[in-house]
Amino acid sequence: MNKFDYMAKYGYEQLVFFYDKETGLKGITCIHDTTLGPALGGTRLWNYASEEEAVEDVMRLARGMTYKNSVAGLNIGGGKTVLIGDPDKVKSEAYWRAFGRYVQSLNGRYITAEDVNTTPEDMDYIAMETDYIVGLEKTSGDPSPFTALGVYHGMRAACLEKFGSNELKDKTVLVQGVGSVGYHLVKLLVEDGAKVFISDIKKDKLDRVSSEFPVKIVPVDEIFNDAYDIFAPCALGAVVNDETISKLKFKIICGSANNVLKEEYHGVELEKAGILYAPDYVVNAGGVINVYQEMLGYDPEEAKRKVGRIYNKVLDIFKIAKEKQITPAQAANHLAEERIRVIRNVRGNYIKR
Ligand code: NAD
Repeated sequence: MNKFDYMAKYGYEQLVFFYDKETGLKGITCIHDTTLGPALGGTRLWNYASEEEAVEDVMRLARGMTYKNSVAGLNIGGGKTVLIGDPDKVKSEAYWRAFGRYVQSLNGRYITAEDVNTTPEDMDYIAMETDYIVGLEKTSGDPSPFTALGVYHGMRAACLEKFGSNELKDKTVLVQGVGSVGYHLVKLLVEDGAKVFISDIKKDKLDRVSSEFPVKIVPVDEIFNDAYDIFAPCALGAVVNDETISKLKFKIICGSANNVLKEEYHGVELEKAGILYAPDYVVNAGGVINVYQEMLGYDPEEAKRKVGRIYNKVLDIFKIAKEKQITPAQAANHLAEERIRVIRNVRGNYIKR
C-alpha cells in the first residue's frame, strides 16, 4: 500500500524525515494522532536493514503509542522516532544535539523520551536543544518500577476476573525475563506472598534476583513444561504464537512485554483455551503514565496513584470484552478508539480560554 493510502486508512497525521549533513543523523518521526494532545513516544536507534523497514517500524510504533496513551487516560497522542544507524558508531554530543534541534522544530507536536538503544546520557544532550523531552534522569528517572507496578495491578485485576479474588498469595507466577521490569515485578509478587518462578537467558540477571528473593529458576527451554497460574512475559514480544499456543498451560497471561500476541487471532485462541489475557499495552503503561506526570509537575506519589488506575481499566476491558463478545485485546483497542472519538467531538465547539 502506498504511504498516503496507509496514512488515510489508519488516521496518521505526519511523517517527517530528517537528515543532518554534519553528523550523518538520519531519522524519521511519525505523529499518528494528536486528538488528545501532543504526540509522545520514545526515540529508538536501530541499524535498520532498509529505509522501508524503518518507516514501517516507526509507523507501527507511533500508532501503538496512540492506543496506549489513550487507554491510559492521558492527554497525549501517539508518536515515535526511529534513528537509522549503528548504536556503537553514530553517537556523539553533536549527533544528539542535531536531533534535539529537529525535535524542537516540530514546535511541541512531538515529545520525545528514551527507547531502545538510547540512554539517559543521550537524553541529556537532546535536552540541550529542545524543551520537548521527558523521562530525564533528573526528573522522572527510570520508568521500570512504575511499569512493574502497573503490571502488578493488572495481574490483580486479572486474578479477580479469573479466580474471584484479587489476592496473589500462593498463586504460582512465572516471570519470563528478570531485567529492569521483571526485577521490580518479582519484588512486588514476593511481597504479596506469590510463589514466583523466574527464567532469563542471562545468568547475572538470574543471580541478582535469586540472591534477593525466594524464587525458583526455570530453564529457558522448559518454561512451557509445567502449569502455572500466571505467566508474566517481561522479555520479548510474540511469545504467544503458532508454535507456543498449544503448549501454554497458564490461566492468566499478564506481563510488560510489548506485542505479546504475534497475531490478533492468537487472542481468540487464548480465549478458546480458557487463558485470560490482560492486554500488554494496558498493563505496561505505568512507565508512560510516570513520564506524563512530568508534564503536569512531577510527583512520584501522584504517578503511583495514577498507575494504580490500571486495575480498574483492566476490569473495564474484561467487561467490554464480555458484553461485545470480543477478546480483551480487541476490547482495549475499542476503548482507545472510543475515547479519542468522544473527546474529539466534545472539544468540537469554540470556548475562549
Ligand atoms: P530489559 O532488557 O531490562 O530486560 C529484559 C530481560 O529479558 C533481560 O534480562 C534479558 O536477558 C531477558 N531475556 C531476553 N530474551 C529472553 C528469553 N528468550 N527468555 C528469557 N529471558 C530473556 O528490559 P525491560 O526494560 O525490563 O523491559 C522488558 C519488556 O517490557 C520489554 O519487552 C520492553 O519493551 C517492555 N516494556 C518495558 C518498559 C519499561 O519501563 N522498561 C515499559 C513498557 C514495556
